[in-house]
Amino acid sequence: MGETSYAIGLGSNRYRGRSPRATVEAAIEALTGTADVALVARSPIVDTAPLGPGSRRYANAAILIETAFSPSELLQATQALERSFGRRRTRRWGDRILDLDILLWSGGCWGDAGLVIPHPEFRQRSFALGPLVAIAPAWIDPVTGLSIRQLETRQNRAIPVDRASPHP
Ligand code: ADP
Ligand code: MG
Repeated sequence: MGETSYAIGLGSNRYRGRSPRATVEAAIEALTGTADVALVARSPIVDTAPLGPGSRRYANAAILIETAFSPSELLQATQALERSFGRRRTRRWGDRILDLDILLWSGGCWGDAGLVIPHPEFRQRSFALGPLVAIAPAWIDPVTGLSIRQLETRQNRAIPVDRASPHP
């Protein structure tokens, strides 16, 4: 098992035989139930209001994992899992059975055509920060230098820079 850790954000707002909450639960088990990925910590599953054109409420959670996977390998694994849960690529922010976002990486920053870590929008998303603060409050965001707890406090205060963002 590698020493690299990641924070993953999970979300679901569509039913496919089970509730969004049960889908998130099953996704945590599927992602961390293999020899390649170890579950270190998990947040409670929270209910959140939809973002953008989505119509149903979300179940959201965050987990900390350890794995030897590189960021690219982990994205392959999370996208394969999204597909295996029946997700089809439609419009962004649309309803989805399962969404897995790589929020943070212990290696710091990563950026290529298909993957940016830290996730570019997590600082503006309370459904990402809320669960994240439960499992990694002291993790320092390498882009802003602020801890997850500080980012979550700022987000809750809805400072002007957040109101100006397209992703409330
Ligand atoms: P969102 O999660 O923002 O609602 P999607 O799940 O549809 O949007 O993701 C769109 C694309 O974002 C994916 O195809 C993926 O290549 C890219 N992406 C970039 N950075 C990340 C990241 N940190 N975690 C997950 N996907 C990412
Ligand atoms: Mg996503």
